Amino acid sequence: MDVHCSSCGEPWDVYHLRHDAIFETDLDPTEAEVWRGLSLTERLSSRYREKFKVAGYEFGASILNVIHCPGFPKGAKPDPDKAALKAGIVEILGDDEDGIAATMEDFGL
Ligand SMILES: [Zn+2]
Repeated sequence: MDVHCSSCGEPWDVYHLRHDAIFETDLDPTEAEVWRGLSLTERLSSRYREKFKVAGYEFGASILNVIHCPGFPKGAKPDPDKAALKAGIVEILGDDEDGIAATMEDFGL
């Protein structure tokens, strides 16, 4: 399943975001492994958000809500309608990552 970046529309594989994107940060592999075992909230703590940001990723309240992605022109802004819709989906579905992924895919988000 894919979800799309709010800024450039690039599709991102859900599995990649949940399991592999962390290895694109400058965390060492041991730390990245630890991250994979954290709760959904802990995975997006400010420390990890900072790491992701350096790697080019910016997320909303869920790691499946990609606001900015790597390889994306700096300074471009996310589509406000898409961003709002995605934030709403995450708010409704909370920790249900499978539900979030399926709903975003249904809406082509
Ligand atoms: Zn993007």
